Amino acid sequence: MPQEHATRRIFLSPPQIGEREREFVKDAFDSNWIAPLGPHVDAFERELCAATGVAAACALSSGTAAIHLALRLLGVGAGDTVLCSTLTFAASANPILYQGARPVFVDSERTSWNLDPALVAEALARLRARGEPPPKALVAVDLLGQCADYAGLREVCDAAGVPIVQDAAEALGATWRGRPAGGQGRCGVFSFNGNKIITTSGGGALVSDDPALVAEARFLATQARDPAPHYQHSTFGYNYRLSNVLAAIGRGQLEQLPARVAARRANEAFYRAALAGVEGVSFMPEAPWGVSNRWLTHIQIDPARTGGVTREDVRLALEAENIESRPLWKPLHLQPVFASFVSDLAVINGTAGELFERGLSLPSGSALTEDDLARVAGIVRRTLRA
Ligand SMILES: *Cc1c(COP(=O)(O)O)cnc(C)c1O
Repeated sequence: MPQEHATRRIFLSPPQIGEREREFVKDAFDSNWIAPLGPHVDAFERELCAATGVAAACALSSGTAAIHLALRLLGVGAGDTVLCSTLTFAASANPILYQGARPVFVDSERTSWNLDPALVAEALARLRARGEPPPKALVAVDLLGQCADYAGLREVCDAAGVPIVQDAAEALGATWRGRPAGGQGRCGVFSFNGNKIITTSGGGALVSDDPALVAEARFLATQARDPAPHYQHSTFGYNYRLSNVLAAIGRGQLEQLPARVAARRANEAFYRAALAGVEGVSFMPEAPWGVSNRWLTHIQIDPARTGGVTREDVRLALEAENIESRPLWKPLHLQPVFASFVSDLAVINGTAGELFERGLSLPSGSALTEDDLARVAGIVRRTLRA
């Protein structure tokens, strides 16, 4: 039915769910492990450790919750400073505000578009020059599924005693120097939100090679209940755990992770081939230190070389054909919510701002067909050639 095909919406990054998820969820129903936690949560955590090569994992209600717990466990409190990548989703930095701390945003390098270690060093130097204490943590983001330069970041952070929280929410299944993303910092964060490479419909995880840190996260995420027959609390906690039903979905999804990475990388390769030679279009580079999961295929459109056609023109042309695409994350130092935190401590050189102005993420779901991809690429091509 060609007419139906012509109007079926192509989404940016929809979930892809299958029979295995249904089997695991059926088991949760049949065993009455609907709540609160349960065997699928335990198994999902074990399987996540196996898939990511970390010693311990705690399944949580969201990636944001995982970042929040990480910051609290690293002792981030009121008035403290936390360095954070500016080129990311707001959820990377919101938990800094939950803790009453001050985010200091740092710009990107052009190899991976992630935190530039030299600029992080500059941020540390500015704090020192002011006689301020060093940051309590650094939130490093693995943008669109590509790992940051952890060799460079660790060198700078280790020298200053600053622990790294790796926001790998977008990077499950990617690698850094041959090792799975998520284990490069003091702790790592994953998201299983509906649009990520795998999903539990909503969820996240905190992982670390320090099992004590993860045990502490589990304690805080379960209302910080002390061991006692009655409800006893010596500190305040959160209700941040993942349900057994959602972990069941996650187990089915995790089995598919290598296939999902392959599918997303194949999308990117298709778009690259289909848009080869189109003047003014370039793709997000792949850094030599890792393999991206290509969560989202991302193009840059340079209006100086497209005869003035902008990324917004392309986005609107796709939208007119019922196809969803999305600008790159607007840098956090440009977001109204964080405006009051942008001071001369922030190290901004314009890289993230320029990438944002030119950047468009194309439909990248793991279930896209070649027809879908060709349809998208054809519209991008036509718009840029017009
Ligand atoms: C999705 C995402 C988060 C938040 O994860 P949720 O599970 O939606 O809370 C954090 N950081 C980045 C970079 C993300 O893309």
